[in-house]
Amino acid sequence: MKFLDQTLNLRYREAPLDMRGASFRTLGYGVIDKIADLFDELPQRPVTTGESPQAIRQLLGPGGLPERGTPATHLLEEATELLFDHSLFNGHPRFWGYITASAAPIGVLADLLAAAVNPNVGAFMLSPMATEIEAQTIRWIADLIGYPSSCGGLLVSGGNMANFVGFLAARKARASEQADGSSVGIRPATVYVSQETHTWIDKAAELSGLGADAVRWITVNAHQQMDPVALEKQIIADRAAGCLPFLVVGTAGTTSTGATDPLPEMAAICRKYALWFHVDGAYGAPAAVLPDASPDLLGLREADSIALDPHKWLYSPLEAGCVLVRDPRHLVETFSHHPTYYNFNGGMEDSPINYHEFGLQNSRGFRALKVWLALRQVGRAGYREMIGDDIALAQALYAAINTYPELQAVTQNLSITTFRFVPLDLPHDPPAVAVYLNKLNEALLNCLQKSGEAFVSNAVVEGNYLLRSCIVNFRTTLKDVEALPEIVIKLGRQLDTEMRSQFFSIQNVLEAV
Ligand SMILES: *Cc1c(COP(=O)(O)O)cnc(C)c1O
Repeated sequence: MKFLDQTLNLRYREAPLDMRGASFRTLGYGVIDKIADLFDELPQRPVTTGESPQAIRQLLGPGGLPERGTPATHLLEEATELLFDHSLFNGHPRFWGYITASAAPIGVLADLLAAAVNPNVGAFMLSPMATEIEAQTIRWIADLIGYPSSCGGLLVSGGNMANFVGFLAARKARASEQADGSSVGIRPATVYVSQETHTWIDKAAELSGLGADAVRWITVNAHQQMDPVALEKQIIADRAAGCLPFLVVGTAGTTSTGATDPLPEMAAICRKYALWFHVDGAYGAPAAVLPDASPDLLGLREADSIALDPHKWLYSPLEAGCVLVRDPRHLVETFSHHPTYYNFNGGMEDSPINYHEFGLQNSRGFRALKVWLALRQVGRAGYREMIGDDIALAQALYAAINTYPELQAVTQNLSITTFRFVPLDLPHDPPAVAVYLNKLNEALLNCLQKSGEAFVSNAVVEGNYLLRSCIVNFRTTLKDVEALPEIVIKLGRQLDTEMRSQFFSIQNVLEAV
């Protein structure tokens, strides 16, 4: 009897997760309506509610894994409310923290569409259209920044992964003795980065097995750019000491201040010593599309590999990173394996692209769609306009800050502006004042971030704690950036009143001891 019931059920199966057209349509329209309202309301909402982890946890309640299901209508309403009322919105016109973009609405729809078709972009056979769209996206990203579109490349989760892929390709190509893992008589492989290089290099050095000691941190000049003379000296010294220099990393737009290393000089050094030249353009590479891009930045065209984050300056929703490698064979040599259970080339007339051979991932989602659709929606001209406007706004912010006596603008590169609050009539005690200003600006940043009025992050430049605004946000207007100085000054004055007398009285006591 039981068996018959089950057979019948299986014949007319209704799986708990399944949803037919009519319900999907109703639920889907409901969600889309709410998202559309959210986009319109963003400027009126706080950037963030600044709630504590505990407060957020309480909203979810202590409940364990549910034994039974809940109707999807209810769940989607609840999830929408939880997220809309308790999130930080990097799509808010006044979000300028770290380097996270406003996400293009077409990218939001693209992710929905991609998930609906759900191609596995690890192999062409499992994702014919998606694979070719990704390949076209890679060629277009290369074209956007003036890199040869004959390059190889793929989309990955973000800049960390894109840089890691470039790093591994470099090691395979130029330090294969390390890549192959033979340990007899091998020379210690060394990598050259500037002191301003993003922390992905720490992970890459450790996870590749080379170790932290393999990294040579080259000094930077007063503009946070790598000193190419120091670079060459270090390479020569390391070679003389029996090391195997194999990779130089230049940055196009550093995370802290947006500085770009002298990429053409670094490329020349790489050619001279036959080293792999990787450019970390996770943030800044798309600025190469601008007609007035600096020669330093355009030097990225000479790289053997480039990392670039569509989820930064191409305004894709998270996640989308991209790595380009001049000669595609290097990716295949680094990552391609052919287990017996794959039959991905069988019977195809021309050989397909199977992306599992190009990187670390096996099953892969369709990240390319959101990037591809945005590139098509606005074209090169649209990106030129948006990136140019972001930079112009960052420059306008720098100029605005300079008009306030209590604010000090410090750096301005690409779309990153750094500055700090410096109250008037500080005591004349330079070492103590320097310490105080760092404490004051750190406290100011913490208050500002929680306030929801605007969101910036921080940078430390030459020992000074600075506020840092990075505009990768097509929703930001001049009115938004011009509002920032007064928000900062209002908070700065309050904190100064609370902190100053206490700080300097303790300082006096310390000095008296
Ligand atoms: C953001 C950034 C990274 C890391 O990228 P993720 O996408 O956050 O992994 C690496 N390098 C630079 C220069 C960056 O700005």
